[in-house]
Amino acid sequence: MTQRITILAGGMGGARFCLGVRHLLMGSDTEITVVGNTGDDIWVHGLRVCPDLDSIMYTLGGGISSERGWGREAETFHAKEELAAYGVEPTWFGLGDRDIATHLVRTTSLNAGYSLSDVTEALCHRWQPGVRLIPMSDDRAETHVIVDDPDAGDAEQPLRVAIHFQEWWIRHRASLPAHGFSIVGIEDARPAPGVIDAIAGADTVILSPSNPVVSIGTILAVPGIRDALHATTAPIVGLSPIIGGAPVRGMADACLAAIGVPTTAAGVAEHYGARSAGGILDAWLVDTVDASATAEIEGLGIACAAVPLLMTSPDATARMAAEALRLAGPRVR
Ligand code: GDP
Ligand code: CA
Repeated sequence: MTQRITILAGGMGGARFCLGVRHLLMGSDTEITVVGNTGDDIWVHGLRVCPDLDSIMYTLGGGISSERGWGREAETFHAKEELAAYGVEPTWFGLGDRDIATHLVRTTSLNAGYSLSDVTEALCHRWQPGVRLIPMSDDRAETHVIVDDPDAGDAEQPLRVAIHFQEWWIRHRASLPAHGFSIVGIEDARPAPGVIDAIAGADTVILSPSNPVVSIGTILAVPGIRDALHATTAPIVGLSPIIGGAPVRGMADACLAAIGVPTTAAGVAEHYGARSAGGILDAWLVDTVDASATAEIEGLGIACAAVPLLMTSPDATARMAAEALRLAGPRVR
């Protein structure tokens, strides 16, 4: 019988993890569905950009820049330079020439009335990622960050403003203290076609080692997705993106701090919560350096094991995926 695995994923961390899962299950009768975060999506120079979906598509399709970890390999940035020469903002967004083709196809298709799911499927015809990649939602819902107005100068009580996640993350390198996150449009966002079925019909649901706040947290915020996770008979297992009290890459610590969650493997597990206590986790993998946290996590009602969690190669990542499936155990039907 076909094994069905559903992965909730952000961008780079999610993409690398999916590569390991595909590597592990290659040749077996398995259907892998990846539900991608679209909260990072943004309109740039008239183009619809979906950074996390593209990271997954390019990584699994062999087109990702291995050097940068995002965008296309053998990329040039002439269009970006020309736009900057015209003085048009945003000048801080990394729009590569090859990458622009993807955004042109996407934008043209969206403007013609196709849904983001349709467009993603069409783009994947070229990249053949070997998984079914679906956006969390076809509706626009973009993460914004609440910060003190960066243009307020030395005002004693600066106004709080909401800036787009990408402006905070890329332009400000997450250095402006965040007071919180607001996903504009999320109340009215519906799960994309196939998302709820992929969770309900899975044999295992995996939370990739992605940013718990602005990747996984955003997916969980789509009305209906958390309920589907509560209801599924599939075990749900997550892998910690935090190792030894720090994110492996990126600035997830700034996101966790903004919502008052400690940047530890146990802190993130507690934030997700045990499914038996109204949360979403049945099982949680921490890195071996965090082995001392397993008892605390088990105490929350979450099965826990400590294994190497560095995605240094597809083989190493495949071993992580195997451990996740082992710890999750079989589906309770
Ligand atoms: P983004 O959307 O590109 O920021 O990517 P994700 O949200 O999918 O993943 C970002 C998270 O991946 C960061 O919080 C990192 O700590 C985590 N990460 C990156 N590389 C590794 C790794 O090798 N092992 C683990 N466990 N986590 C990783
Ligand atoms: Ca992202």
